Amino acid sequence: MTNDHVEIWSKCLSVIKDNVTEQNYSTWFAPIVPLSIEGKTLTIEVPTLFFVEYLEEHYIDLLRTVIRRFIGEKGKLDYKTAVDSNNNAGSITLPSANRSFPKNPIGQPAPQRLSEVPLNPFVIPGLKKQQIDSQLNENYTFDNFIEGECNRLARSAGLQIAKMPGKTSFNPLVIYSGTGLGKTHLCHAIGLETKRLHPEKTVLYVQAEQLSTQYVTANKNNNRPDFINFYQMIDVLIIDDIQFLAGKPGTQDVFFHIFNHLQQNNKQIVITSDRFPSDLQGMEDRLLSRFKWGLTADLQLPDLVTRTSIIREKMHDNGITFPDEVVQYIATNVRNNIRELEGVMNSLMAQSVFNKKAVTIEMTQQIIDRFVRNTVKEISVEYIINTVCDYFKISPEQMALNTRKRQVVQARQIAMYLSKKYSNASLASIGQQCGKKHHATVHHACKTIANQLETDKQFKVMFADIEKKIALS
Ligand code: ADP
Ligand code: MG
Repeated sequence: MTNDHVEIWSKCLSVIKDNVTEQNYSTWFAPIVPLSIEGKTLTIEVPTLFFVEYLEEHYIDLLRTVIRRFIGEKGKLDYKTAVDSNNNAGSITLPSANRSFPKNPIGQPAPQRLSEVPLNPFVIPGLKKQQIDSQLNENYTFDNFIEGECNRLARSAGLQIAKMPGKTSFNPLVIYSGTGLGKTHLCHAIGLETKRLHPEKTVLYVQAEQLSTQYVTANKNNNRPDFINFYQMIDVLIIDDIQFLAGKPGTQDVFFHIFNHLQQNNKQIVITSDRFPSDLQGMEDRLLSRFKWGLTADLQLPDLVTRTSIIREKMHDNGITFPDEVVQYIATNVRNNIRELEGVMNSLMAQSVFNKKAVTIEMTQQIIDRFVRNTVKEISVEYIINTVCDYFKISPEQMALNTRKRQVVQARQIAMYLSKKYSNASLASIGQQCGKKHHATVHHACKTIANQLETDKQFKVMFADIEKKIALS
């Protein structure tokens, strides 16, 4: 028995170290113990099964690269778990191509699929409709897409589409929201459910960015027609993050043709965008006007109840339970982004496994401070005042005036309420900035708005409009 496995793994680690943050390295890689190498198979020990899943989901490309580099093309990675009672073992599937993924706000790679995206599917001669890989992520289903007030419309439209693709009036379905609120998840859920109900349909999920890259390559190789033909074969075309096409007239043009063809043939189109379609700068009007033919639905910030349900669902998925107070604490403090919520949970799970400590409020607090507060830019009272004034078309000076004019009073109260919710400023400081008011006035304003939100539906709608501008800024 040689020590080759130790040496190989340490070479792997040296590359990994350069490619992940220090925090992620110590959380996810340092605890791994190399056990043996037999032929081209390296076996490692990981703390739990959850770990393997996490590595597969987030670091598969990196692992693939280092294994290929230090063991060879046929290199394989097997694992054993250290603490799981049933001593799980298995292999980590290493896919074959290299792709890089944008980092998410907590510094871990965004979730990715293991299957490979055919970068140039249309150049495969004689490719048949049935052979097209849908590029769907099986983990993103309707079952685990928690329903809430925030996503009800988009979710039910998605379900409707899966039942009758191309036959509803939601064509295209345009889903928009800020980042980390479930657009991609919902896309995959729609695709998977469509396939489940209509196995004969050809579904394709593609990121607009990939579409654009493919188009550029196709153009270079003079096979624009093949590119268009390929996309015209699809029954349900899902394009994620359409905003990437902004300022890319070539891809927009080609997409316009594909879009029209699919629409005319009653094929379904689903599009996501990180902003309301008409706010997409650099996008051709003829495309934007097409988007309006169907349904535009947004995913709003989840409320406390929904956030709590999402946490419970993720705990259930991972077979772990945090104490109620911890669940409550996360749900109350991580409000603007579901991906961050998951990031916090993953870190908590990892930390509790390593330190073999129970998850406490203090631990949670630290992780949230480290991951969330640092990345969410601090929203200033000034910014909130400007946004609210903008909405009511008054100037900040007018808002500060000592007047009883209803609109001014309302704008001021809303600004105070939102400042309390989104900035770290004290009531006294908020009062000072909103027209030199006393902190008790701010307190009163917050109560008034909270009350109005509960009783006045129309007000609630208007308020949500303003809040969105601030929360998604
Ligand atoms: P977006 O595409 O809008 O940036 P994602 O779809 O990638 O957001 O969602 C971020 C993370 O939050 C994903 O892991 C997703 O599974 C999770 N998520 C979003 N919405 C929900 C929901 N309603 N229920 C459960 N998980 C959700
Ligand atoms: Mg997305």
